[in-house]
Amino acid sequence: MSENFNIAEEYKSILQNLPPSVQLTVVSKTQSAEKIKEIYDQGQRIFGENKVQELVEKYPLLPSDIQWHIIGHLQTNKVKYIAEFIDTIQSVDSEKLLTEIDRQAATYNRKIKVLLQVRIAEEETKFGLEISETKELFQEYLNGKFPNVEITGLMGMATFTEDENQIRQEFSVLQQLFSQLSKLQPLTTLSMGMSDDYKTAIECGSTSVRIGSAIFGRRN
Ligand SMILES: *Cc1c(COP(=O)(O)O)cnc(C)c1O
Repeated sequence: MSENFNIAEEYKSILQNLPPSVQLTVVSKTQSAEKIKEIYDQGQRIFGENKVQELVEKYPLLPSDIQWHIIGHLQTNKVKYIAEFIDTIQSVDSEKLLTEIDRQAATYNRKIKVLLQVRIAEEETKFGLEISETKELFQEYLNGKFPNVEITGLMGMATFTEDENQIRQEFSVLQQLFSQLSKLQPLTTLSMGMSDDYKTAIECGSTSVRIGSAIFGRRN
């Protein structure tokens, strides 16, 4: 990217093109605190990081009213480093992880919001719960098993492909699961869509997009 790539302008143009009902998580992984502050100064408050170490380093350098989201695979033994301040963990991909988040939230006397990450892509490498596991875990939650977390919705990533039909199909699978679970208990957040596929995701019912490179430029 050129030196004068204007991130504030990129941010504003994306924001303008999002339906007002769609929440934007600005994905700030690998970006400096200075760049994050530049977007913060435009009014953005939700930022997403995928590494605990990186988040813990940036957190004290930035305003305290930022709502930090974890969007990447989270190791159970790292929950304790973020439990005090994390707003939402979007990437809950196992019961073990949810159990630990619940436990850590209790020690800080708070509730942590989470999304269940569902594996909708065909790539084996992507993390996420299978659909049947997602239903089971949500049912356990409804039965009161995780009193210190609030499941607010689902998250998913489509296959990295040029084939828009496939992307659409994968997002639709997640949307259907979302509406099914919402009948058991209302959910607010269907997090799907990144820089390259967020428009498709919104057409498929996304209420929350996670955008990094379209604002900051391509990561190294
Ligand atoms: C990196 C990342 C994003 C943002 O990707 P861009 O293509 O840079 O917009 C969104 N979601 C997750 C889970 C990510 O890891």
